[in-house]
Amino acid sequence: MSSIHEECGVVGIYAPVKDNIAPYLYYGLLSLQHRGQEACGIAVTDTGAKHLDVSCIKDMGLVAEVFSKEQLSTLRGNMGIGHVRYSTTGESIRENTQPLVLNYCKGKLSLAHNGNIVNTDELREELIRTGAIFHTTMDSELIAFHIAKNRVHSESVEEAVYKTAKKLKGAYGLVIMSPKKLIAVRDPFGIRPLCLGKKDLTYVVASESCALSAMGAEFIRDIEPGEILTITEDGIRSDYSLRQEKKAHCIFEYIYFARIDSAIDGVKVYDARMKAGELLYKRHPVDADIVTGVPESGIAAAKGFAKASGIPFDLAFHKNSYIGRTFIKPSQDERALGVQMKLSILEEVVRGKRVVLVDDSIVRGTTMENLVRMLKSAGAKEVHIRISSPPFLHPCYYGVDVPTNKELIATKNSADTINRIVGGASLEYLDVEDLSEMADHLPLCTACFTGEYPAGEK
Ligand code: AMP
Repeated sequence: MSSIHEECGVVGIYAPVKDNIAPYLYYGLLSLQHRGQEACGIAVTDTGAKHLDVSCIKDMGLVAEVFSKEQLSTLRGNMGIGHVRYSTTGESIRENTQPLVLNYCKGKLSLAHNGNIVNTDELREELIRTGAIFHTTMDSELIAFHIAKNRVHSESVEEAVYKTAKKLKGAYGLVIMSPKKLIAVRDPFGIRPLCLGKKDLTYVVASESCALSAMGAEFIRDIEPGEILTITEDGIRSDYSLRQEKKAHCIFEYIYFARIDSAIDGVKVYDARMKAGELLYKRHPVDADIVTGVPESGIAAAKGFAKASGIPFDLAFHKNSYIGRTFIKPSQDERALGVQMKLSILEEVVRGKRVVLVDDSIVRGTTMENLVRMLKSAGAKEVHIRISSPPFLHPCYYGVDVPTNKELIATKNSADTINRIVGGASLEYLDVEDLSEMADHLPLCTACFTGEYPAGEK
């Protein structure tokens, strides 16, 4: 399997009328910041220029940290792509930032990728075999080099993209920029999301629909699994040759990853989380005085639980939104401190109460242990834990950053044991059978809970 696991977000814009699109890419990336806080970048080009070139700025850090107003004003063009990146610790080096810009036979090729390719060894070997001496662990670099190689014997860049995509195994939402075209590709299973929007004559693509509105565009549709969408000055056209029958949309997008105001493949993320909370109550009811959620990802499910149970919802925690995710802090001590820094408790809401605490998932158990402790010190009488996803048991090969099996608390411990470890009064998970209803019966990838990977990976 690939050695770099990435969770990312991508955006792309093509404005046929002379326009300066960099600020729109910036707004789009700001609204995808939840998909990656480690690094970001923007590449733009002017399709009408005599001497075609690509300007690219990328660096480690949050979108607002990397781009100053002055820097943004140096990125001039009518077509561009952007990327936010989130990777596991250890690989957080500047060279891995995207978009990637490389010289090829037709000028410059730029590419940004969300997801994870599982056959990188095969792809790398093929490049080495065909004479390109090439060592990289980056999926996106391998994809870009394959496109560049295939372009030499192809009529068009779309054809080179198609030949490359046919060889890719895994999950991808790709935005690719050739000198005159913007191309968006979604993997045939549709694991990672990608959608299309429009404002006047300008087309916009993004990992999530929340980015389209931030860029002033209206949602048109999801890019279909296996679709290669090409945007030029003549408008859009699609190639569906990669399409296959089996689809497998990532359930974790709905559970945790996507922003609550996004809709993916026709299902609103907020509705899916509410539904999960309702289903959780139906399977695992409990008598309590208030229902609360872990901000932000547990709030909608807590509301669903409250709605189904009739127990009032209240906010027990305040979240300081200006601190990065605690999940990525390297040591366990730092992670625990991170939880406390990020969340503070509203004592009067919980004092003397039997509390239902809803979160979207338990990974290592750090968050839950700390929150139960905080609730109890604030005087909560009982803390009933309800998790709006099943036990997290298997690694994700498709781009969700998951610790090793060893660190996943549910691989070694039953719900009762975890409940004891974290100090709850009871602990229940959403059932695997309920995931389909949660996501309105879409075909799903639920491998992190079931170990059943769409392409049969082990
Ligand atoms: P832990 O404290 O390790 O049990 O992690 C659980 C918390 O991390 C929950 O509050 C989740 O919302 C959040 N979480 C779950 N999966 C991820 C992920 N892949 N990246 C970052 N945070 C996550």
